Amino acid sequence: MAPMTERALREIGSDLDRQTFPRVKDRGIVTPSDTAVTITLGEEKHDVSQRRSTTGSWKGTTRGERPAGRSWSPRRTTPFVGASLEARYEEELDEIERAYPGTKVWKQKEGLWLLSKSSLLEGLQRAAIFLVGISYAHAMAHGWGFWKQDMIGVRWIGPRHTNFPDGSICAFYQDDETWIVGDSIIKLLDLYSVWALRHLYLEEFGRWPGPQAVFHPYERLLELRDDEYCGCGQSGQQYGMCCRDRDLARNRIADAVNFTLNFAGGLREPPAAVVRTVYDQSKPPRLDELYLN
Ligand SMILES: [Zn+2]
Repeated sequence: MAPMTERALREIGSDLDRQTFPRVKDRGIVTPSDTAVTITLGEEKHDVSQRRSTTGSWKGTTRGERPAGRSWSPRRTTPFVGASLEARYEEELDEIERAYPGTKVWKQKEGLWLLSKSSLLEGLQRAAIFLVGISYAHAMAHGWGFWKQDMIGVRWIGPRHTNFPDGSICAFYQDDETWIVGDSIIKLLDLYSVWALRHLYLEEFGRWPGPQAVFHPYERLLELRDDEYCGCGQSGQQYGMCCRDRDLARNRIADAVNFTLNFAGGLREPPAAVVRTVYDQSKPPRLDELYLN
């Protein structure tokens, strides 16, 4: 990684560790936040010139890793459903093309698929690819992330902060309404961009930057480093200073069995049809099939 690119990544990671949410610009370029706008959803989100300066509540972007069934349950108060959802997203398509140029769109009776590219950092030798399926009928969205790099091809981004069992992106916690179906797809892609950047940071520097939610003790033991934020979400402390010793003192065999039973055997993998679409940009699977599984 070029020194300037690495410096930017390091700086954004430090921001995340200070619970400051970065900015996302067109092409999914993530930059350090240059103001203290950390928490609020900007009023300016409908203003084209400013809309991408704040991409979500911090709180909402930190949670993750829920069993698929729970994380995709429909919202209580979805403002758009069915036809109105379709009309709302039809309207946003031109804007998506400006924010994430080259986005490929497939329309199905039951919803919409998008394949978008995020450059993440200036000078980065790879890009993040997001395949997003939005079901109008179910008022749900799934996204998957992949790295695309010239020599290496395409590689799934995971397993951390993806859902069980299908490896879809878990960039925020559903219940706090960081993003709900009916909200801007650009905002969703921005949240995914920051999620991918955190994965890049994990690869480069060996730790997940910023707060995270990992509620199962056994999963925390498997995944968290001592100097990462604890996944309990309670203390704002590092794992090594917070839950680690308690997690270690528990009955680990029982915890492992519980984890395996409740989290799809602990395995995560994107569906073959999703991988195929990302590889060759062929027609994505029917959304109904996906949501019935
Ligand atoms: Zn803790």
